[in-house]
Amino acid sequence: MQKNYAGQPVITLNNGVAIPALGFGVWQMENLQQCEDAVVKAIEVGYRMIDTASIYLNETAVGKAIQNSGVSRDDLFITSKLWVQDHGYEETKVAFQRTLDRLQLDYLDMYLIHWPYGDFLGAWTALEELYSEGKIKAIGVCNFTIEKLQELKSKATVLPVINQIELHPLFQQKELQVYNRENNIVTQPWSPLGNGNTELLKDIHLKVIAEKNNKSVAQVILRWHLQEGFCVIPKSVTPSRINENFNIFNFDLSENEMNVVRSLDTGKRLFFDPKDPEWENKMLNSRADI
Ligand code: NDP
Repeated sequence: MQKNYAGQPVITLNNGVAIPALGFGVWQMENLQQCEDAVVKAIEVGYRMIDTASIYLNETAVGKAIQNSGVSRDDLFITSKLWVQDHGYEETKVAFQRTLDRLQLDYLDMYLIHWPYGDFLGAWTALEELYSEGKIKAIGVCNFTIEKLQELKSKATVLPVINQIELHPLFQQKELQVYNRENNIVTQPWSPLGNGNTELLKDIHLKVIAEKNNKSVAQVILRWHLQEGFCVIPKSVTPSRINENFNIFNFDLSENEMNVVRSLDTGKRLFFDPKDPEWENKMLNSRADI
């Protein structure tokens, strides 16, 4: 049965599951009390989708917040991610159970492969099985390039529903956006606000649009993501911003305004490049068993 997220806009994934178009990210919330408070606040404000990962080391805090939120599990969409060190068929099954235990859940709405390194194909086979057993409602990936998506597609029996990638007005990945769309994969931007990048949040063109719409620059950026058809997951530990970032359903950007935001693309990442061998090596040697 389809969940109802209090009437919020949803995006239908390629397997028919609906995901709220706006969710709440919890990267860089290593302070567990801060994370728990932020997630409780987010759910109180109205967010119904939470995006965590085992590497964020805060799944236990997210689990507590879910318990304390007063909102039924069935009305929430919970995503977590498999860490690189846990790739491989058997390892993935163990890591998935650890994630469930930490979150105090008996299923995940979405489980994503965090980076396309190591034995991610073995991991995907495990995800497909967990999906067919109903323990995960939708499976997807993060940081996959077109080449990695093609490699996955050639082996997979279940296609990913989402590709979560760095994407914000300064770095729009238009070619990958198109590939995702043509393959029925929803684009989910990470760092949708450029991780709070000041150049972006102080951009003069965005300020003009914000003033005209009586909104903040952050709200304009998040609205742009929604109107592009992306599934967006801003992060904040600040109660007023958690509220502000949710308040984006009551205005529209014109096509002209959308084009102004599109024109800000510099083609330069602010973060890690999935194709960088040094980064890949660092990830493959990162801490195990988390
Ligand atoms: P965002 O782009 O959402 O930006 C968060 C930063 O912006 C924080 O410093 C926050 O400050 C600040 N901020 C939030 N709202 C506002 C506002 N309204 N006005 C001004 N500043 C604001 O960053 P993230 O990098 O966290 O990305 C979002 C989520 O994407 C992550 O939390 C995570 O769930 C996911 N992600 C996934 C990755 C992957 O590899 N799959 C990689 C990176 C992120 P403060 O908190 O102090 O309020």
